[in-house]
Amino acid sequence: MNALTFPILRLLADGKFHSGEDLAQQFKVTRATIWNAVNHAETLGIEVFSVRGRGYKLPQAIEFLDENEVLKAIGEQRAWFKLEVLDEVASTNTILMQSKHAAHATCVAAHVQTSGKGRRGRTWVSHLGSSLTFSLLWRFQCGAAALSGLSLAVGVALMRTLHGFGINQAQLKWPNDVLIDSKKLAGILIELQGDMEGPSAAVIGVGVNLNLPKNVLHNIDQPAIDLASTSVPIDQNELLGVLLKHLADVLSGFEQQGFIGLRDEWLSHHAYHGKPVRMHLPDGRDVQGVVKSVAEDGILLVETALGLQRFSAGEISLRGV
Ligand code: ATP
Repeated sequence: MNALTFPILRLLADGKFHSGEDLAQQFKVTRATIWNAVNHAETLGIEVFSVRGRGYKLPQAIEFLDENEVLKAIGEQRAWFKLEVLDEVASTNTILMQSKHAAHATCVAAHVQTSGKGRRGRTWVSHLGSSLTFSLLWRFQCGAAALSGLSLAVGVALMRTLHGFGINQAQLKWPNDVLIDSKKLAGILIELQGDMEGPSAAVIGVGVNLNLPKNVLHNIDQPAIDLASTSVPIDQNELLGVLLKHLADVLSGFEQQGFIGLRDEWLSHHAYHGKPVRMHLPDGRDVQGVVKSVAEDGILLVETALGLQRFSAGEISLRGV
């Protein structure tokens, strides 16, 4: 951590040159201190151009999340949420998983995640100003056993949000990836607290690619895409606010009815509904079949050579054939 890095990045967010001298005067520190703070940004993977005689500059202008704008976009339900926007964290999911007493509906968003998580210890790639990454803590009266299907429910909130912004090509891939043109736009990671009987809590982590630099996008080890490629301009504050509003609706509905009340809507967005797929199992085997449906608890039903088989999300990956 370096306390000056983000204040400097906020000034550089305009995408213009700022001289080391001006920055040093503004923050009442030496130029060497500015240089150190910029160096720290680089260790976070943030590219800062440094040109002798002109100063420092980001490759392009970027926007930071603004708590007030996010709350405005949530609308009437804003009072439900406790929103915190942090500059640099290891993982927003980890913060909420570790804070035992966080209030219901606490949302932690981060400008930079240094160890963003995917499922099963995988990494989620994000980039300052180019990704939306946040986690939402939601408490349930029911036990963790009743939360199967929750990660699919969260996908429905993402669909309502993206389609609401006119991104009608966004689809889901079981259990909960968001795809555009078969490429991954957003990921969801849910971690549970509490016991099987209840009460319980879910930490719902979401990462959405806004406009990742091309080299970052191409270095992800599966086809990935960002919202910028859709040419529908979306402000990230609005995206987060509207998504939180839809999450509140979907999660309240889920608490009352479970996934069943959302199943038809989920199926209508499934990119692989009725399509041939390959299910990659934890033991390394692949099973091929055709997707038939999802069950009330979010289990995927696939017609295979051995008949109808049921796949539960935990350790299994679906891939198109
Ligand atoms: P599934 O097993 O459901 O197919 P997955 O392989 O997509 O899941 P997740 O845990 O959902 O895995 O997400 C982590 C994976 O997503 C990483 O291993 C990487 O392949 C990919 N990934 C990481 N960062 C990004 C990103 N910013 N955009 C798109 N994909 C990403």
